[in-house]
Amino acid sequence: EKSKLNRLKDTRATTLDGENVNLLANIEGPKDLPQVKAVGSDGVGLYRTEFLFIGRDTLPDEDEQYEAYRAVLKAMPSKPVTIRTFDVGADKALNGNQGRNEPNPALGLRAVRYSLAEPKMFMTQLRALLRASAHGRLQIMVPMLAHAHEIDQCLTLIEKAKTELRAEKVKFNEAVPVGGMIEVPAAALSLGMFIRRLSFLSIGTNDLIQYTLAIDRSDESVVHLYDPLHPAVLKLISGTIQAGVRFGVPVSVCGEMAGDPAYTELLLGMGLRNFSMHPAHILGVKQQVLRADVGELAPRVQRILKMDEPARVREAVERLGS
Ligand code: PEP
Ligand code: MG
Repeated sequence: EKSKLNRLKDTRATTLDGENVNLLANIEGPKDLPQVKAVGSDGVGLYRTEFLFIGRDTLPDEDEQYEAYRAVLKAMPSKPVTIRTFDVGADKALNGNQGRNEPNPALGLRAVRYSLAEPKMFMTQLRALLRASAHGRLQIMVPMLAHAHEIDQCLTLIEKAKTELRAEKVKFNEAVPVGGMIEVPAAALSLGMFIRRLSFLSIGTNDLIQYTLAIDRSDESVVHLYDPLHPAVLKLISGTIQAGVRFGVPVSVCGEMAGDPAYTELLLGMGLRNFSMHPAHILGVKQQVLRADVGELAPRVQRILKMDEPARVREAVERLGS
């Protein structure tokens, strides 16, 4: 089965009815590149940059970050590489941060909140990202956005970094796309303010499920309640994909759901065309895409979205794949 899948490496992920689908990789750093290349990924959909310094005591400086980002871009010539700004806090704690003793880390100073609270650290990362943008198709992505003013502050800091680099005569891509993650329910319910400000969206189902269902994703005692098929979760995901289609803004899913072949037909039927996942899942998902007919799936998925009885939803989703 594995070698059969390997033969799909250079096959374009196109559905039976001719829809092109992009299968991108989630990575934690340049160390993952050999695996990304081995499966013929269409690019990097999520580079989790916090892994550059988790478990160390000092932050990587601008040059060290630049080298890591550039290495990924160089390895993926002409393919999109979406690099996410630091998503620290909660399940990705910084060494020096453990003493902070937050009452509720998942709801605390994490991700973009942390970056905006540490503008010096954030500016260092933004400068490194912009410098790397000269070497490929870099896109910058911001995690955990909920408020319009958070996006505006990020865009202002990016402009500030650009102004600095211009003054220093350092090359970068003036038109580097800036996107945001949709992983807080409030964001999925107020998409207009995201679409007006950003070039692309990526749905982080891991956190979106955690926050929609009010279950800590790292708490073993509630894992049985972590349900990607909860009707509320499905509404938020499909609403985001559909808004992207309607307004012509690219949307991807980069949470674990994108890499689970049990959900491939469901997401295709919702209109999703960009899936980002651990590289180990790319060929299995590609096999599902090659067997799918989205023209046939879309109306069936519309009916699933109207169901609110979990057992029926589950059964109908299982039938999509058969
Ligand atoms: C997500 O939340 O779905 C996601 C992709 O980000 P992370 O798992 O790194 O929080
Ligand atoms: Mg997340």
